[in-house]
Amino acid sequence: MDKIVTRFAPSPTGYLHIGGLRTALFNYLYARANGGKFLLRIEDTDLARNSMEATKAIIESFEWAGLDYDGEVVYQSQRFDLYKTYIQQLLESKKAYYCYMSKEELDALRKEQEKNKQTPRYDNRYRDFTGIPPQGVQPVVRIKAPLEGNIEFVDGIKGQISINAKEIDDFIIARSDGTPTYNFVVAVDDALMGITDVIRGDDHLSNTPKQIIIYNAFGFALPRFFHVPMILNSQGKKLSKRDGAMGVMDYAKMGYLPKAILNFLVRLGWSYGDKEIFSLEEMLELFNPNELNSSPSAYNEDKLLWLNQHYIKYMDNTLLEQLLGHFGVTKLSESKREILYPALKDRSNTLVSFAQGFNEVMNAPCSYDEKMRIKLDANATQWLNKLCKNLNMASWEDNPNIIESYLHQFALEHQIKIGKLMPTLRCALLGKSGGIGVCEALAVLGVEESMRRIYTFIRYQNNI
Ligand code: GLU
Repeated sequence: MDKIVTRFAPSPTGYLHIGGLRTALFNYLYARANGGKFLLRIEDTDLARNSMEATKAIIESFEWAGLDYDGEVVYQSQRFDLYKTYIQQLLESKKAYYCYMSKEELDALRKEQEKNKQTPRYDNRYRDFTGIPPQGVQPVVRIKAPLEGNIEFVDGIKGQISINAKEIDDFIIARSDGTPTYNFVVAVDDALMGITDVIRGDDHLSNTPKQIIIYNAFGFALPRFFHVPMILNSQGKKLSKRDGAMGVMDYAKMGYLPKAILNFLVRLGWSYGDKEIFSLEEMLELFNPNELNSSPSAYNEDKLLWLNQHYIKYMDNTLLEQLLGHFGVTKLSESKREILYPALKDRSNTLVSFAQGFNEVMNAPCSYDEKMRIKLDANATQWLNKLCKNLNMASWEDNPNIIESYLHQFALEHQIKIGKLMPTLRCALLGKSGGIGVCEALAVLGVEESMRRIYTFIRYQNNI
């Protein structure tokens, strides 16, 4: 097999959508797994709709996701001169021609065709024109599309595709201002960049026959095509912002890990038995675009959260602490971090919820859950007073197990039920039910801070 060269070719009209990242990932995996190349081309010929901001956002998303591309980014907006020479080439070889039909004439033709219940299409009137061109009309350039037969190709996902030539007219490849059209530049670039495999959304399926006509006009070898079905929401409709699906960097802000996003995306439209967790190495080893599903896949947010929790859980704590810095999480001593992080990992499915859990422990409560507080034992304050006196003397260690046996001992000595002492302490230290274990909280907060919180609570109780 020839060396695989794939590309991702976004139009920079806004942020990089999560569905776009999936397409990029499929191309990336296929190229990287086969020792091939993965190229990035920015399709920014529509100068009015494209922005440099959007291009930056795409590149930033790639960096975040860890998808590296080969060579320099190719910008279509910088290749207008090149496209001109290729258009000229087709004009000279008579595979394309100038069409002088004015907008009014074209509108009149369309109206006529609609009246006769015909599909609107250009009527080839300038295809073999040899006369004197009409004055004052800036011509467009049209390609000579085949007049009969079929345009055929085998799609790696959809199988054999055949389109009757009658369905495609001599479409425009250069507008009257000389700028090239979309299908022309895509085909020319894919050929010049040596793309062997085009993996893209199936919303582009109708463009492929037109691009094949361009390939054929130049005698370029056709790439293999894979048209990936789209991602649907839980109602079976096209995924939209309302489904929580949005720009890749929004997922970063919501506290998703790139590994979780890539794992989630690779499973949208592809599977390997019932395996759900894929490291990048496994994706590289196992992914095959020929196995992509021919029916649409469904976006499932719960699954994404589940995967994210998995990757948070197995992430090295030092690395996790670094990432959490972006979410306002301050650094802890190693021993405290090794107590708090495992406890929070079990409860967090995003970095945002991790940071929230972290702050709930590290920031002293500003209020107490009333429902919890009124259920506490009548002697709660007394116990806490005693405990604090003992705490003062106790040799405290950053070890939840030692703290636990210490508390059991204390409860026994003072004839307090441990099941009543723990909620009392929880209320004083954290202000609410749920969250990490009391002994973990005591270990992480340390004697001083724990006592400060307990005394604050005692004062609060006494003032009520
Ligand atoms: N620029 C197109 C888009 O953003 C993709 C074209 C292609 O992959 O061929 O949808």
